[in-house]
Amino acid sequence: MSQPPTDREPLSATARRLAVYLKPHGRGVVLTILAYIGAACTEPLIPQLLKTVLGEGFKANSFSVWWVPVVLIGLFAARGLFSFLGQYLLNWTVSRTVFDLRAALLNALLKADARIYTSLQPGTAVTKVVNDPQQIVAQLGGALITLLRDGLPALAMLGYLLWLNWQLTLLSMITTPVMAVVVKRVNARVRRMGSWAYDAQLRLVNKVDDLTRAWRVVRSFDAADHEREQFAARAREVQRATLKTAAANALTQPVSQLIASIGLSVILSLALLQARQNQSGVGEFAAFIAALLLLTSRLRHLSELAQPITNALITAQGSLSLLDIPAENDRGSRALAECRGEIALQAVTLRYPGAEQPALAALDLRFAAGQTTALVGASGSGKSSIVNLLLGFAEPDEGQVLLDGAPINELTRASLRRQFAVVSQDIVLFDASVADNIAYAQPRDAARLEQALRAAHLWDFVQTLPEGLDTTVGANGSKLSGGQRQRLAIARALYKDAPIWVLDEATSALDTESERAVQQAIEAWQGRKTLIVIAHRLSTIRSADCIHVLQQGRVLESGSHAELVARDGAYAAMVQAQFAD
Ligand code: ADP
Ligand code: MG
Repeated sequence: MSQPPTDREPLSATARRLAVYLKPHGRGVVLTILAYIGAACTEPLIPQLLKTVLGEGFKANSFSVWWVPVVLIGLFAARGLFSFLGQYLLNWTVSRTVFDLRAALLNALLKADARIYTSLQPGTAVTKVVNDPQQIVAQLGGALITLLRDGLPALAMLGYLLWLNWQLTLLSMITTPVMAVVVKRVNARVRRMGSWAYDAQLRLVNKVDDLTRAWRVVRSFDAADHEREQFAARAREVQRATLKTAAANALTQPVSQLIASIGLSVILSLALLQARQNQSGVGEFAAFIAALLLLTSRLRHLSELAQPITNALITAQGSLSLLDIPAENDRGSRALAECRGEIALQAVTLRYPGAEQPALAALDLRFAAGQTTALVGASGSGKSSIVNLLLGFAEPDEGQVLLDGAPINELTRASLRRQFAVVSQDIVLFDASVADNIAYAQPRDAARLEQALRAAHLWDFVQTLPEGLDTTVGANGSKLSGGQRQRLAIARALYKDAPIWVLDEATSALDTESERAVQQAIEAWQGRKTLIVIAHRLSTIRSADCIHVLQQGRVLESGSHAELVARDGAYAAMVQAQFAD
């Protein structure tokens, strides 16, 4: 089972980072405080009014009777206005800060190095970007309210105590250093347990995330019990961690009260001694003790502030860690307008972290402009890794990738990626309409949409949909068949109309008829676009200008279909194996 984490930045550092997001809304905080002070000021006016009414009101020839309702209603109206303003301003500040935090976190995610997506679970991202900011700022806002509600009277009481007897008041603070040390120790534990609870909570979220995505697998394996157990194990961890955090928190109060009682008894004894020496009267003694006790009860509430603040900071620590993810290498400065589509890989070695064998080993490869180049090879031979390199999703450990003769590192990532239209192996669709999926992030153009849909052999199908182009496709296109999803992804790439086309096993889920249609679309582009086709079905690539056979990140043989068949090597063997099927 997981253990409490230890290697984190100190919470004070988190607080400083958080302050950056609170600062622009500082005037909201100030106005909130003013409104709460205003509301607090109306409080003593009510008994004051009562005193005046009772003291003066019964005398004949006193103030006009009409003054009473006017002042009373006015007082309550003022109080209501102040407390409304206080709450409204606080929520105004909270919601704006949450907005800014979410925007910053999402931006970090959008700019993050592509590699993090292999380890970042969607559930984690959702929690850190959507839920955490709200929780952080709301908790801090709540703490601010407590601070105002109990802190202001506590300050007043402290002033009163100092006025009554400043020597004793200062003496009563002798236990403060001891208290500070103890609270620090307890807080360290709260922090450790709280961080553990946070991590455990994320693991729980990710379980649910997995479950909803893999519901088909779960049901077909009849794995409800299995999943329930796994969920329960994680939920129990959350429970244990939360309980330990709460226990550590609950320790703060009794311990600090015990220490405070030591201080209180010292003061009591001293005050009694003073009183016996007749330096002060019983009345002053009683007033002093009463005020001290009242102050203590306010301080107790204030000591409970530590919990939400620590909690908020622990959450912030987890959430803001997204901002630490290194951004994608986008050091290129040249924006490429339009390319010819000539690509070369020069002695490229690509090694994934932790992998024994390099995915690509000193690979030399050329994709001629305006020609169709096919990549074939067993799965795991490095075909998709080449696509990742071209788009700058992966960086070569050695060697370089050239586009039109220039290293792609010199290009801005945005302009590099504009050159490519990719249909990848795993199709990803948005929970949006057919049209929005195809004209993704581009202006919608009816003629172009129809052209793309017809080329992808999807036009007739879309006509049968209840809302046509505006029909939504469900979460990741779950309302469509596998082949329809693939054709939709192809239509999206067609719509983009980039100079270089990459099809990474893009026709694998298609029936023969659709595949032929897509093939025709591809052939129509042939000669006008640089085409890179990766396919298992060799019939798809038969007409390619050049075919490279890959094995373990190296080129085994290259040539046209006819050349490779004549050569009677690995490719010829693959052709024969597929014919035999
Ligand atoms: P292909 O597309 O030819 O099937 P890939 O390029 O996807 O092969 O993978 C090549 C090798 O790199 C495989 O051995 C695979 O396990 C490994 N690989 C691919 N992606 C990653 C990754 N993100 N992290 C670690 N290893 C990876
Ligand atoms: Mg692949």
